[in-house]
Amino acid sequence: MSFSDRRNFVKFSAAAIAAGAIGNSKADSLRSDRRKLSTGILICGGGCAGTAAALAAARSGAKVILVEKAPFAGGIITSVGLPYFDGIADIKTKRVVVKGIALELLSKSGVCAADAKTVKIHNPTIPNTFEFKILLDRLLQERKENLTVLFNTMVCGVHSDGGRIRSVTVANKDGLTEIEAKTVIDCSGDADVAAWAGAPFEQNKEVQPLTLHFRIGHVKSTATLGKDCKEALAKAQAAGELPHYYGPGIMFLFGKDEIYVHGVRVPADPTNAADLSRAEMQGRADAHAMFRAWKRDVPAFSESYFLEAYPWIGVRESRRITGQYVLNEDDLMKGNRFDDAIATGCWYLDLHPNKTTVGSANDFAPEKVQPAPYDIPYRSLLPQKIENLLVAGRCHSATRGAHASTRVTVTAMAMGEAAGVAASMAVKGNTSVQEIDGQRVREALEKVGGGPFTEG
Ligand SMILES: Cc1cc2nc3c(=O)[nH]c(=O)nc-3n(C[C@H](O)[C@H](O)[C@H](O)COP(=O)(O)OP(=O)(O)OC[C@H]3O[C@@H](n4cnc5c(N)ncnc54)[C@H](O)[C@@H]3O)c2cc1C
Repeated sequence: MSFSDRRNFVKFSAAAIAAGAIGNSKADSLRSDRRKLSTGILICGGGCAGTAAALAAARSGAKVILVEKAPFAGGIITSVGLPYFDGIADIKTKRVVVKGIALELLSKSGVCAADAKTVKIHNPTIPNTFEFKILLDRLLQERKENLTVLFNTMVCGVHSDGGRIRSVTVANKDGLTEIEAKTVIDCSGDADVAAWAGAPFEQNKEVQPLTLHFRIGHVKSTATLGKDCKEALAKAQAAGELPHYYGPGIMFLFGKDEIYVHGVRVPADPTNAADLSRAEMQGRADAHAMFRAWKRDVPAFSESYFLEAYPWIGVRESRRITGQYVLNEDDLMKGNRFDDAIATGCWYLDLHPNKTTVGSANDFAPEKVQPAPYDIPYRSLLPQKIENLLVAGRCHSATRGAHASTRVTVTAMAMGEAAGVAASMAVKGNTSVQEIDGQRVREALEKVGGGPFTEG
């Protein structure tokens, strides 16, 4: 039997194992003493993909548990404060290419009609990320009869053998709980479950930088604001106050005198706990260094104050599973079609470098890597080696280049919705997600208003 019941068991008994005083049978008995839950579908991570997966699976009648380490759903949108619904529409025509739950969330946030065929801009923003939390709370609670939501709950271990996940260990105020599920959907962004279960994955040695988003109040909007801010940051960097930044990415998105800034840039390994902690601290230090530089050197900031930084630094890239199909750059740029397409992507191949870039976030021209709307196959949600696992969101199976496009919020939601529907089909049919035909998933998605873009 192989198991990777990390952190929990390791924490309690690593020393005993090292001393040869404890073996796997003891590990099993420790695990069997724990609180137990069982469900049809377990969704790990309640971000863009995970929330869509939970709603889709619960709406189809399956018994679902959603586990999320934050005290709210929404992932990047609510924990990093990112209001963008990128991937909803084709940049050229502004036609909506992702419907289903993503369009529902955008319309329920007051941005467009529920049946919108086009949007005003291809990358719309929601007006308020706190209200988005409440919207998700309401939608999740509407399904409370068959959907259990566990916030403040960390997935911290996986017990797998024989190519199946037997249980997932979670930690929260109840202590450690073993959750047994017929199908597990990994929407952790980092492929935590897939990696710990032994599914093959890739992670670049150098991944895209991490970014802490923050807001500054009482800023005057002046004609030279962008230029003044750039000059102040260059000066701060030359003085050794700011290692890296980009943009600086200043936007009056939420109020007339309030700026939202996404210019922090911290190179780190987000799957290494100590390095992630260092990145959180560096992100806060850099955000405040930017604020101090502007307050000191830019007159428009003379009466400004630091409003808030979001609780977590944002992770753009970490593990990507090597699944049954690895979506690649050519598939995107050539528009390769797939019989098992279950979602549509349309964002450019948006890679951020680990260095300062002034003006743009990228060090290349985005229009050169802008695909037309493209297919995402079901097989890119299916890992190898584990039969009862789906992986949706930014850790699905794609090359680094393709992932630079598929990672955006709406595309992640579209994959999550497809995974939720597929998992539900597997549970109802008492079969494995690996056996489910992607074309049938697409047909099921179409019935609930989702699935890939089709003309008309
Ligand atoms: C700084 C930054 C800026 C970005 N800018 C844009 C942009 O402008 N437009 C755009 O469309 N996209 C942008 N992206 C990309 C996009 O937001 C993400 O790639 C997208 O959110 C991916 O969705 P996801 O569901 O895979 O991951 P997430 O939305 O991050 O959700 C993952 C969820 O899993 C939870 N989780 C993780 N591990 C565990 C665990 N072990 N136990 C329990 N819960 C866990 C997390 O708390 C989180 O809620 C940006 C990303 C970053 C980091």
